[in-house]
Amino acid sequence: MKKSIQADIIVVGAGLVGLAAAIACAKLGKKVIVVNAQKTAVKKQQAWDARIYALTANSEAWLQALGVWDEVDASRVNTISGMQLWDVQDNKLALYDHDANLDKLGVIIENQNLMYALNQLISALGVTVITEVECLSLVNVQQHINLGLADGRSISANLIIAADGVDSWVRSQANIAVKHKNFNQIAIVANFLADNNHADIARQWFAPHETLALLPLPKQHVSMVWALSTEQATELLTLSGEALASRVQARSQNELGSLRVLGKVLSFSLRQQTATQLIAERVVLVGDAAHQVHPMAGQGMNLGLRDVRQLQEMLTNVHAMQDIGEYTFLRKYARARLADIATMNTLTSGLDTLFANDSAVIKKVTGWGFKQLNHQATLKKLLIQQVA
Ligand SMILES: Cc1cc2nc3c(=O)[nH]c(=O)nc-3n(C[C@H](O)[C@H](O)[C@H](O)COP(=O)(O)OP(=O)(O)OC[C@H]3O[C@@H](n4cnc5c(N)ncnc54)[C@H](O)[C@@H]3O)c2cc1C
Repeated sequence: MKKSIQADIIVVGAGLVGLAAAIACAKLGKKVIVVNAQKTAVKKQQAWDARIYALTANSEAWLQALGVWDEVDASRVNTISGMQLWDVQDNKLALYDHDANLDKLGVIIENQNLMYALNQLISALGVTVITEVECLSLVNVQQHINLGLADGRSISANLIIAADGVDSWVRSQANIAVKHKNFNQIAIVANFLADNNHADIARQWFAPHETLALLPLPKQHVSMVWALSTEQATELLTLSGEALASRVQARSQNELGSLRVLGKVLSFSLRQQTATQLIAERVVLVGDAAHQVHPMAGQGMNLGLRDVRQLQEMLTNVHAMQDIGEYTFLRKYARARLADIATMNTLTSGLDTLFANDSAVIKKVTGWGFKQLNHQATLKKLLIQQVA
């Protein structure tokens, strides 16, 4: 039998949230081992990645403080200086960084750019990453948790961070259930070259159970996230690049002029999923393993990074004798994260329902709200502070 590897913390899942968690813990002097089911090597690609993230200015600042941003290719990151939103009746709400005395509202970054940066820092910190191996068993033994791997190795640690995504294996091993809401929507994701200058504005159109976002990327590229009913999306996914571009152009009221599709068109089924508990004995859930939200607000990753920040804060302030896997200690994490997760669920799910409401009154109120907000400096500032 192979010897058990000792660590302070095991992170299962080397997605963006898991890697950020591993870096944050390693920087606090913890011995961290990351386990991921698949290969994690990321090469720098010239082609633009269709998977992008809108990161809030707060998330960017935190990644900067963590040292991740030093490894990011800044020439491929675009600032968001404003947001323009349209409702179904074409009422427009415009929010700009200067409305809240901010330098920017956030940034748009490609998945590959951020993944590359995180992996570089993981290597520089000497964090062990075990890949292409299945997790087989998870057992609590006195003050430790033992993770058994399919290749016969086992890892023993005080705490396991479950960052293994929406179908989390760790979560199911810990017998934590989830609450689902199926939106019956698919998000179509692609990049376009736009004729008109996007001027660093993130644009979004709301309709019943549908949102179209065109987000600014360098070189007059825009990244599209179009969430719409499974039926409509299935039809759009059969179109040629040219035909899809002209549908997007029409739906976006020609705001960015003629569009040309660049690279791959991807699609993702959408659901809202929340774990009924965020912790178990020696287990803590972060990122999509803990919560999956509708991408209309571009907040899923930001929410996951805020989970990690909470853990980082707790581990920074811990006294030397504290058992970091102890349930009573982890309860602080669960309590601290509840409100943020609930707010994001309510916001995204609530907006989906609000814009789908057939009531003429509701339609009037949302339209009225958009118009009024444009003239309410304080309310605009408050709204921006929620998303930046
Ligand atoms: C269309 C779309 C657009 C989005 N846009 C935004 C946006 O603009 N801004 C934003 O903040 N968020 C956005 N999100 C949300 C964001 O993509 C997710 O919240 C984020 O990717 C979750 O990261 P994660 O690391 O928690 O999970 P994942 O990225 O799913 O990573 C999980 C990792 O765990 C590994 N794994 C899985 N199972 C196992 C196992 N059994 N053992 C070991 N390893 C395992 C996987 O290989 C993977 O590496 C968007 C989502 C979608 C669908």
